[in-house]
Amino acid sequence: MKETVLEVKDLVTTFKSADGPLPAVRGASFSVKKGETLCIVGESGCGKSITALSIMGLLPSNGMIADGSIFFNQKNLAEMSPKQMQKVRGNDVSMIFQEPMTALNPVFTVGFQIREPLMIHLKLSKKQAHMRGIELLKMVGIPSPVERMNQFPHELSGGMRQRVMIAIALSCNPSLLIADEPTTALDVTIQAQIIDLLNDLKEQLDMSMIMITHDMGVVAEIADRVIVMYAGEIIEEGRVEEIYENPQHPYTKGLLASVPNVDDPEFDLKPIVGSMPMLNEQISGCRFHPRCPFAFDKCMEKSPETFQVTDKQNVRCWLQEEGVEQNGGRRASSL
Ligand code: SF4
Repeated sequence: MKETVLEVKDLVTTFKSADGPLPAVRGASFSVKKGETLCIVGESGCGKSITALSIMGLLPSNGMIADGSIFFNQKNLAEMSPKQMQKVRGNDVSMIFQEPMTALNPVFTVGFQIREPLMIHLKLSKKQAHMRGIELLKMVGIPSPVERMNQFPHELSGGMRQRVMIAIALSCNPSLLIADEPTTALDVTIQAQIIDLLNDLKEQLDMSMIMITHDMGVVAEIADRVIVMYAGEIIEEGRVEEIYENPQHPYTKGLLASVPNVDDPEFDLKPIVGSMPMLNEQISGCRFHPRCPFAFDKCMEKSPETFQVTDKQNVRCWLQEEGVEQNGGRRASSL
């Protein structure tokens, strides 16, 4: 069995507000194994990016890890000081962001930005870092890498900028790469190239990867395992084939039903009605119940337990409870 690289346990991340702390992540637990790609999916505001920022120690100043642990290579990142986290970031764990134009510094050349982590973390000389930078640009498929080192981010296309970001993220050979919606800001054809590149690099470098996305198409391309988040909670988890072929949670089913199927002209696109609750919204029982077509009395009263479906798939939904009958999508007793 492959070793566990990352183990997140009961993670609670909150934001300060005039009304007290607001939980954006509510007790998330998951792990990532060596060489594995874990996709975290859900709509905007579900807590997936905040989970990633919690791991990276990059929460905004009004956010904090209120509870839980994040073990990476046997060290609890949740207890590390900002200075200790700086050493981990970019070195053992790296992150690429949705919009490379905002992640790259517009006033420095590509060369400057790629040399910096190599000089800081790997203590390379400027010349060594420059040579390694050229190799990295080549590795991520950037043509004329020598010339690109002297260019500024605005001189590159969106796809090239994302490749530069990937090169920077991989510069110190991280064992875990977190990619937060890395293709959302790109054209569809470029999106596919970046996904292929990330897949190839992950294999080549034997890294683990967490891919954060709202796009179930991306999940199908890249994931080994999938976590579905809703309103700060993990509501389903399983191998990618389990999530696609046998989704159990009504929200997961809704996500899959809202992805267009170009191979099936008869496919009926069904968006999930309603929207994600605000952080300060009080919802009793299952946080999905106001949007759930299967909701019954218990859903409004009690937060669902986690039920095991297979050895790798589990789901938080009362429909899994023994004895619950569905009748046209609703529990028989509530009709
Ligand atoms: Fe729907 Fe109830 Fe399941 Fe929540 S617990 S997803 S409301 S059926």
